[in-house]
Amino acid sequence: MKGLYIHIPFCRSKCPYCDFYSVPRNDALIEKYCDALIDEIETGRRTKDFTENSDMSFDTVYFGGGTPSVIGAERLGRILECIRKNYTISADAEITAECNPSTVDDEFFINLSSYGFNRISLGMQSAVDSERHSLGRLADKNKVLSVINSARKSGITNISLDVMLGVPSQTMESLDETVDFLLDTDVPHISAYMLSIEEGTNFHKRQDSLVLPDEDAVCDMYSHLAQRLTQQGFEHYEISNFAKSGFESRHNLKYWECEEYLGLGAAAHSFINGKRFFFERNAEAFISGDTAVFDSYGGDSEEFIMLALRLKKGISAQDYYKRFGCSLPLSFTEKAKAFITSGHMTLDGDTYSLTQKGMLISNYIISNLED
Ligand code: SF4
Repeated sequence: MKGLYIHIPFCRSKCPYCDFYSVPRNDALIEKYCDALIDEIETGRRTKDFTENSDMSFDTVYFGGGTPSVIGAERLGRILECIRKNYTISADAEITAECNPSTVDDEFFINLSSYGFNRISLGMQSAVDSERHSLGRLADKNKVLSVINSARKSGITNISLDVMLGVPSQTMESLDETVDFLLDTDVPHISAYMLSIEEGTNFHKRQDSLVLPDEDAVCDMYSHLAQRLTQQGFEHYEISNFAKSGFESRHNLKYWECEEYLGLGAAAHSFINGKRFFFERNAEAFISGDTAVFDSYGGDSEEFIMLALRLKKGISAQDYYKRFGCSLPLSFTEKAKAFITSGHMTLDGDTYSLTQKGMLISNYIISNLED
């Protein structure tokens, strides 16, 4: 079955590091945008060039953004209800909404849960309030905690927290404060991303005035975080993701395992029938009915290997054979030898994977193996 992604591009305000597609919350625009999503789910007219004869059965639904929670639980519920009416959604589907802790309360979660959402991803970033505030996040640590409790009271226990490494003024001690908080909350999934200063963001404009930990310090933080989480029973199942057993993000696994997914909404990307396609980063254009645009052919051998290497389980010769009917390319196995010798990769039976040390420089290794 495929994964379904719905992009909600609205945010309360723009975080200074963010280069995702998002626009300020505006009720009139939100209404039109939700109507356009519903129109697309009912008619498929914006994606028909790519989805013809494709089975619209999904076992994951993911509302990402932007900040889906800013449009309110009722609108999210209305879109999900339309999805259920028009597509086949498996009974055990993982249904996730990304939420900003400062935009939700008890009532929000009671409603969200009643519509069938069973997983949330909370953008916490840091448990140190000064760090959170420097990232433009308004809620304090206690609010994050009360939001987690509200979600649990509503029956949503599959909770993921996002944390960020390399944020202004962060130190190993302050990271430990964040990790202590993460472990105290007992959530089953954590995503950890390194701050990257992207052109066009507020941080980029004032990067000379930011006090950022240097690259070595951020690498040490990543290793330290991974060590503390794995000691407490989390599996480091993907370069940036940690989960207790059975709580891996089923939706995101589809991206790394090169499975098919349909993305609806401005800036959403899809992969169906071997083609990658996307919608422009423009909510008004999506509302007006602009169709999805071809990006590239996808799912070839190189892409399959490179995405699999993001996962702890890596790439096995057997899985590769099942998909492509041949052995792993010699160019890959030969180049991998040097990384195995240097301790950045392992070969266990017929499976190649990155070690913890390799995950730290995954971009370098993966681009080297691609050449
Ligand atoms: S809430 Fe997320 S999507 Fe919105 S501005 Fe902040 S980082 Fe970007």
